[in-house]
Amino acid sequence: MDTQLKTLYIVVPCYNEEEALPETNDVLLRLLDRLQSCGKISDSSKICYVDDGSKDNTWNLISEYCCSRKNVSGIKLSRNRGHQNAVMAGLMTVRTCCDMAVSIDADLQDDPNVIEQFVDHYLNGCEVVYGVRNDRNSDTSFKRSTAQLYYRFLELLGVEIIYNHADFRLLGKRALDALAEYGESNLFLRGIVPQLGFKSAAVEYARSSRNAGQSKYTLAKMLSLASEGVTSFSVKPLRMVSAFSVLLFTVCVLCWIVNLISGVSFSEAMILSVWSACSLILLAISIIGEYIGRTYIEVKRRPRYFIDEYINQ
Ligand code: UDP
Ligand code: MG
Repeated sequence: MDTQLKTLYIVVPCYNEEEALPETNDVLLRLLDRLQSCGKISDSSKICYVDDGSKDNTWNLISEYCCSRKNVSGIKLSRNRGHQNAVMAGLMTVRTCCDMAVSIDADLQDDPNVIEQFVDHYLNGCEVVYGVRNDRNSDTSFKRSTAQLYYRFLELLGVEIIYNHADFRLLGKRALDALAEYGESNLFLRGIVPQLGFKSAAVEYARSSRNAGQSKYTLAKMLSLASEGVTSFSVKPLRMVSAFSVLLFTVCVLCWIVNLISGVSFSEAMILSVWSACSLILLAISIIGEYIGRTYIEVKRRPRYFIDEYINQ
């Protein structure tokens, strides 16, 4: 009977998640058992924890869970490589043994109960199912407003992105194989996945608060991901720099014409405009620099991560 059923892997990136993991493991195991007993997924379906170089007891907990249940597996990265790399490491490891994989954060802020709907969509032919937050009340107002501004900004730049979707999604085997073709070092999965194509669906859910522990996304990590999203998927900021230089040149020419015609001294206005122009030029250089820096990292084609240990793969 099992051979007809599809195999689901739930990939969970973990960085210093010793407080959150006990509850998360219970909830996900119960979900897996339920989906297996109602005949939606095969008995070989598993949870796959990815330890992203944690410094606390996370890996020991993962090892314990793997010992006590055969449908829990673990991967330990050789060091902390960041959330996106941890998700990618998990997905790329499980893609050879599963039919579909769901990625979900270890703190269960994303509602695991909707995974059943993800699977239903997959069984109806979808290769990609996006989890979309319809309620961000659990986020701080700072995080909520900056996230919304950011999504709008990306839309303005023409980046194809699913509004209010982060990294809670299901990918079928064909989508996983397509994702494997993307070789970039700086990953922004929520920008790459819509580019894969395939039949897709979205499932809405309310985002809750962390079940335990603190956020592992520092402001620096968030800013780096945000910049990655822009520079990986749009060259519009570079075009804005060109448009700005044309505008500035036009203003200068107009100033000179007015100066020559009226004979009025513009010295103060000119000083002000020189300072404004300098700061805008520095901004323009820094935007260009950001692209050059990212290109520099990409051309080296360095590996994204190394896997130190596997359990139950
Ligand atoms: N995470 C990771 N590596 C990191 C930072 C975070 O694997 O360097 C994991 C973390 O354990 C969690 C997920 O990424 O499972 C999202 O992190 P978090 O919940 O702290 O982010 P937030 O929800 O606050 O944006
Ligand atoms: Mg979280």
